[in-house]
Amino acid sequence: MSLDILKGLATTFKNMGKKPTTISYPEEERELPPRFRGRHVLHRYENGMERCVGCFLCAGACPADAIYIEAAENTEKERVSPGERYANVFDINMLRCIFCGYCQQACPTGAITLESIYKLSSYYPEDAVYHKEQLLEPLGEATLGSSPDWFEAPPPQDEAGQPVPQESRIFDGSEASATSVGLGMLPTERPILLTNKEQDVDRRVFERLSDPNEKEGEQP
Ligand code: SF4
Ligand code: SF4
Repeated sequence: MSLDILKGLATTFKNMGKKPTTISYPEEERELPPRFRGRHVLHRYENGMERCVGCFLCAGACPADAIYIEAAENTEKERVSPGERYANVFDINMLRCIFCGYCQQACPTGAITLESIYKLSSYYPEDAVYHKEQLLEPLGEATLGSSPDWFEAPPPQDEAGQPVPQESRIFDGSEASATSVGLGMLPTERPILLTNKEQDVDRRVFERLSDPNEKEGEQP
């Protein structure tokens, strides 16, 4: 018997009584560290209002251009968030996302966090685009997510008005503010992310560009 075989057998016997390092997924799952960055969750306040104020700051901070937002104005009759605006559309393309957590870090209201959700496989690429309906906590839930594990807890609702531009590098919809978060000088009344030719189809860009009355790159 060669020495190599003896060495191999010794390794086998040495490890025979030890606990295996593998687990039987999916029956068993590992406990993830509190700062694990998986799929995003959009949070609510205790009274059900959405934390997101549609400020676009997360989209501006995203290095992978994975977030698409359409903001809408709150009205006295219909108030969705405590700010002037709320996110009427909030999509995240998980095929683009690199799970860096910059969006979470940029958010002034603690509206978006990355959580321990890692089962993100899908048959079709379009299913990897998560919409607000999938990302938002259901009514009755009001968690902070992983925010306190990374930063200080987000501000309470009465301090979460529409963010002020420039002072805190937060996007308020104005040109000046768009520049402050690196979005250039595009007029911002129109969804900014739709003006880039290289956007994904899922961002409805082609739908809009195919409109003969609306030329590519043309601003309203
Ligand atoms: S985790 Fe990073 S890449 Fe993913 S959406 Fe947020 S900022 Fe973009
Ligand atoms: S930064 Fe926060 S509040 Fe602003 S649009 Fe993104 S998720 Fe909403």
